[in-house]
Amino acid sequence: MEDLSHILLQLGEDDFDDQGSVVPPLVQTANFAYPNVQAMRDALQNEEELPLYTRGLNPTTALLANKLSAIEGTEAALLTSSGSAAVAKAVLSVLKHGDHLVSVHKPYSWTGKLMTKFLPRFGIQTTFVDGTQIENFKNAIQPNTRLIYLESPNSFTFELQDIAEVAALAKNLGIHTIIDNSYCTGVYQKPALMGIDTVVHSATKYYSGHSDVVAGVICSSKAHISRIFKSEFMTLGGVLAPFNAWLLLKGLRTLDLRLERSSESTSKIVDFLLSHPKIETVYWPGHPGHAQYALAQKQMSRASGLFSLVLKSNQEKDALAFAHALKRFRLAVSWGGYESLQYPAVVAHGLSYGKDEIPVGLFRMAVGLEPVDILIGDLEQALDKI
Ligand SMILES: *Cc1c(COP(=O)(O)O)cnc(C)c1O
Repeated sequence: MEDLSHILLQLGEDDFDDQGSVVPPLVQTANFAYPNVQAMRDALQNEEELPLYTRGLNPTTALLANKLSAIEGTEAALLTSSGSAAVAKAVLSVLKHGDHLVSVHKPYSWTGKLMTKFLPRFGIQTTFVDGTQIENFKNAIQPNTRLIYLESPNSFTFELQDIAEVAALAKNLGIHTIIDNSYCTGVYQKPALMGIDTVVHSATKYYSGHSDVVAGVICSSKAHISRIFKSEFMTLGGVLAPFNAWLLLKGLRTLDLRLERSSESTSKIVDFLLSHPKIETVYWPGHPGHAQYALAQKQMSRASGLFSLVLKSNQEKDALAFAHALKRFRLAVSWGGYESLQYPAVVAHGLSYGKDEIPVGLFRMAVGLEPVDILIGDLEQALDKI
């Protein structure tokens, strides 16, 4: 395994004929020209390895793909224009009409819609299971099950699946496994090394880290990535633009520092909240009070900076008062950026999440890079308002 700082700061960067520029160039071009027919023929016949057209291979996106694959510990990676494109392409790559998949329940919202609304149009059915128990996966598997889909931890309630156990179960039955690893990133959790076949990410989140790019990545074996390239990747399009890849390369420089800061601050914030009389509970896999803390310790080197708090009060007026009193946690979707954010369940009040109703006092909080004392102070004054 390569050391992380080498991957983030150096890997692949001296491959460019870039007149000594320290930062790798942004190759902002749609197509590539050749000195003769043979060179063009070579590129056309090997679009995966040689630059021909930027929907296929572009040097800037290829550099980023190599880095993300190295972080994950996989052989290869492909970049997509969003995390949802990565999820959809990876899922479609292993399914055909008549197939069945088993998914952890409460996956990312649009992943859930892919499975409940989109795949059935093509004759593909999904069974959703509570992923905290391996038995639930075993019981859901049918003769035509081709895929097990994981997201560990998931968002909002941060439930985990035992990744190695599910991977072993699937491998025995010849079932492909995909996991959404956006929460931990490959820095804090390496599912491919636990036997998972394909790892997908919303690179919009920590990999970018600056809330200025929407992006996704699929990491897998060279053989599987090659299959996806020739099929879903090139036919469905939706690839990452070179400029967005270049922004991501910039964000990656500080990935380890940002994650560490956010995780450390979250630990202090969670301790503060759990000792506060107006807080019912906190969901964060980095805290010993988490229902699956032992499993988190086994498969994650650390928990990142996204967690949920639940107010003692379940009155909408208190949730609104708390939301509006917070000054440093801005009201916005997404997470993984430099800035702290809040996503109050009351925004989606009346909507159900899986089978469970989310309590009206639940807030998903993304901890940014601000000094932790300022964030705790902000939470404290907001809790005083309810
Ligand atoms: C945001 C997110 C996605 C979707 O990624 P986009 O980049 O927004 O398309 C998928 N999975 C998880 C866990 C996410 O948080």
